[in-house]
Amino acid sequence: MSQTLLEMAKDLVLAQIQAKTLPPDEMHSALQQTYTTLMTLKAQEGSDGSVPVATPEAPSKPVTWRKSITKHVVTCLECGASFKQLSVRHLKDHGLDGRSYRIKYGIPRTQPLAAKETTARRKEIVQRARPWEKAPTFVKAQEEKREKAAVAQRKKTARAKA
Ligand SMILES: [Zn+2]
Repeated sequence: MSQTLLEMAKDLVLAQIQAKTLPPDEMHSALQQTYTTLMTLKAQEGSDGSVPVATPEAPSKPVTWRKSITKHVVTCLECGASFKQLSVRHLKDHGLDGRSYRIKYGIPRTQPLAAKETTARRKEIVQRARPWEKAPTFVKAQEEKREKAAVAQRKKTARAKA
């Protein structure tokens, strides 16, 4: 098989020389480079002859940060401490912020730095609060003061459930 690869590499390089895209004195290094590339491709070939495409789950970096965000805790990849939510203040201790932390560990910008259940609950609260805040019957029924108290009470209730 390496004979075949070498033949392929030679043909590719010769084709480039004939097409005048490659000066003949660079043939040796080009041949070597092409051969190495073909060898690498060969090594990546599966037993069925197909080149496996890296799946999003496979790369080592995303796996690292994915493991850091579980249902109950988010683990700081800098010091290994666990939180419900990775605060800006904590990241500052490492000289980082949400943005640089995400970049450093290859975390998508849209990924909340919080435990999955914390993120889910926050979404739930937001979804529940919106229609309630907009309901005209509610706003009409309450004096402004009492409305604010109700909002605070709701928040307190939501926090108490947490
Ligand atoms: Zn930390």
